[in-house]
Amino acid sequence: MKAFISSYEKKAIPLYKESALTSWNANITGTNEDYAKSEKASFEYAKIYTDSIAFAELKQIKESQAMKDPLLVRQLELLYNGYLGGQVDTSLIAAQIKMETDITKKYSNFRVTINGKQLSDNEVEIILKNSSNNTDLKTAWEGSKLIGPVVASDIIKLVKHRNTIARKIGFSNYHEMSLKLSGQDPSEVTKIFDELDSLTRDNFARLKGDIDSFYAKRYKIPASEMRPWHYQNRYFQEAPEIYPVNLDKYYANQDPVKLASTFYDGIGLKVETILAKSDLYEKPGKNQHAFSTDIDRSGDVRTLDNIRPDSYWMNTILHELGHGVYSYYNDRTLPFTLRDAAHTFTTEAIAEFFGRLAKDPQWMQGMGIIDEKEAEKISDDCHKSLRLQMLVFSRWAQVMYRFEKSMYENPDQNLNKLWWDMVEKYQLLAKPEGRDMPDWATKIHVALYPCYYHNYLLGELLASQLYYYITANITKSQSFVGEKSIGDYLKEKVFMPGARYYWNDMIEKATGEKLTARYYAKQFVE
Ligand SMILES: [Zn+2]
Repeated sequence: MKAFISSYEKKAIPLYKESALTSWNANITGTNEDYAKSEKASFEYAKIYTDSIAFAELKQIKESQAMKDPLLVRQLELLYNGYLGGQVDTSLIAAQIKMETDITKKYSNFRVTINGKQLSDNEVEIILKNSSNNTDLKTAWEGSKLIGPVVASDIIKLVKHRNTIARKIGFSNYHEMSLKLSGQDPSEVTKIFDELDSLTRDNFARLKGDIDSFYAKRYKIPASEMRPWHYQNRYFQEAPEIYPVNLDKYYANQDPVKLASTFYDGIGLKVETILAKSDLYEKPGKNQHAFSTDIDRSGDVRTLDNIRPDSYWMNTILHELGHGVYSYYNDRTLPFTLRDAAHTFTTEAIAEFFGRLAKDPQWMQGMGIIDEKEAEKISDDCHKSLRLQMLVFSRWAQVMYRFEKSMYENPDQNLNKLWWDMVEKYQLLAKPEGRDMPDWATKIHVALYPCYYHNYLLGELLASQLYYYITANITKSQSFVGEKSIGDYLKEKVFMPGARYYWNDMIEKATGEKLTARYYAKQFVE
């Protein structure tokens, strides 16, 4: 196993880095040339795992059950899954990467056109948030959905292609394969989603009623005429601001980057090295979303954002730097394979744990954004607003998880209908009359970050679990500003262990219990 690892690392480390770096460049420039480089590098990296002789060797070691060293056993487990996922023709993998790259370009270059004027995603969101003209809202929403027909048939082809790959290595479809290879049991995840569905359903329905009456009044329409463009964002994935607390106004004259960096430094997690390598503001051709990436698992960690001074981007930069510190503070004495998060959702949990602070008046006061009097004044509404955000998001995540699961089980079904059935059932939105468009294809995650969305919600559960654990045992206070003990705790219990433990074991070691929905419910439903 040791010999295997050393030869694996010799190949994998440089190719991993090349792949991360070229993808980073392509997302920034958006040029064909950079995308071609990125495509080539991810192909070269993915090719490592297609080596059938290496896989046979791993299989033999695994079946012998001779190893006792826990670090070696854990590496074997992760490498075995990695190689198992690669036991398909390289031509199939190359075709998949090519399809993904083509779709990426289409998303990156798409701009909504309204009255001959090109708008960025940010500009569309501004219209949906601020306009009270029903026609303008509808036009902006419909305009943003025009990317759907551009990519829908490409995505269906890609979905079928991914299924072909999954079946070749013994899984019934790509969704099942993705979860299992990442160490999750699909039935466990569905069970948690069912539990959360019943935990959140009534409260959500009540709050959705509040949202409808609030906006029906604003748009001067009966509540029965509320349509998807009346909910302040393209997907109803974030909570509309129905409580009299406009957090954007507090951030309008702030620098989210400076605030985030001051905060992280204050809890003992320095981020200046990360920020120095990051790309933080809007540019033509650049990816309009946000992500964080670990270029070499040795300290080169970066985040891509399109920051504006508002609460959305305050949340986002805190979120992305949460991913960033998780990567940056890994234990560099661990082998390469284990210098990673315990699971992708555990890094989402850390990102969310920090992202939520953007709406926390105690944090805002601690950071000097508002004074004590203002904090007291908005405290109740802030809690309601965060609760609404969580409930709205949890219902949206239900749509994403169940849609993808069903799409991979049967990509030939009527996906337009499946999407709206889910949206109506879980988000309680009214489908526009007669609408039959591939609106599911407008959500970039469906195409390019497949079978991943449920991890955001699992991340929220863990963020709540960590929140209760930390406030009860680590800080003994609600304000996190300047609390170095948080940084120490996270470094020791979450970041440094990396991927050395199975995710639920890491959670148990860090909080005393396995992942549970109890704290999320306690925080946002009860
Ligand atoms: Zn994230």
